Amino acid sequence: MGSSELLRVGCAFLVLQLIPGTAGWGKDGHYATCKIAEEFLTEEASAAVKSLLPDYADGQLANVCSWPDEIRHSYRWRWTGPLHYIDVPDFVCNYNYCRDCHDPARHKDVCVTGAIYNYTRQLGSTYYDPSPEIKYNLTEALLFLSHFMGDVHQPLHVGFTGDEGGNTIIVRWYHRKANLHHVWDNMIIDSALKTFYASDLSNMIQAIQRNITDGSFNDVPSWGNCTLAELACPDPYASESINLACKFAYKNATPGTTLGDEYFLSRLPIVEKRLAQGGVRLAATLNRIFTPKSSIAQI
Ligand SMILES: [Zn+2]
Repeated sequence: MGSSELLRVGCAFLVLQLIPGTAGWGKDGHYATCKIAEEFLTEEASAAVKSLLPDYADGQLANVCSWPDEIRHSYRWRWTGPLHYIDVPDFVCNYNYCRDCHDPARHKDVCVTGAIYNYTRQLGSTYYDPSPEIKYNLTEALLFLSHFMGDVHQPLHVGFTGDEGGNTIIVRWYHRKANLHHVWDNMIIDSALKTFYASDLSNMIQAIQRNITDGSFNDVPSWGNCTLAELACPDPYASESINLACKFAYKNATPGTTLGDEYFLSRLPIVEKRLAQGGVRLAATLNRIFTPKSSIAQI
């Protein structure tokens, strides 16, 4: 158990409340994360996921992984806005659940890691319970969990408070004006698709999947690890994100900078690894949630 984990245990969990409420990976990034996850699901987890998907998902989790971004600006769902990210103190390159997991009004546990714990718990506690005391909407829980597992891997979703995770840092992406957060949500992936993948997202996803299975990422077997008895372990993922934000996203990207080939080519491997990790870890989490207790007992 790491120190951040100990601190988290010391924090009181609150039920997420109605609180007024930036985006994660763009649509392509979320599709990629969930598509990668689907490849690593056990038969049981895959069946459970399919049983919870809405009809319009057409049997594929990847088709609905951007749903939380589509609804977040509507009145009913405005409270979910702060669940997509974590703001850490300015120029502090680390993350601490108790210090950082709150919304702008400082309501505790209202942040992306808090949301991952919350929706994992909802799914894990009631999916196999024939008469749950509290009836959660498990379809919504699955879609939120799958989306937020992507968001927590986007380095600037764990960024500095003062620049709103890079949203207020205006740069040029080649010849286009953009904010740094949007560069990491969309532009690096868009440029990669055009430059290396014939503008076809499935080519990019296949290349990432090959990298996962052929040993290009040497630490894949440890990615899905989680503390004993926990279903989800998002705290280390958030720590990695702010670390990468400091080392790569914010670096050489001050306001007014023009970001071109040097920035793009050195940051693309980071983006691809984070999409890969998001997918593998989403699958590992769903596999833990949807493995019935009886089979855990046999292990
Ligand atoms: Zn998001």
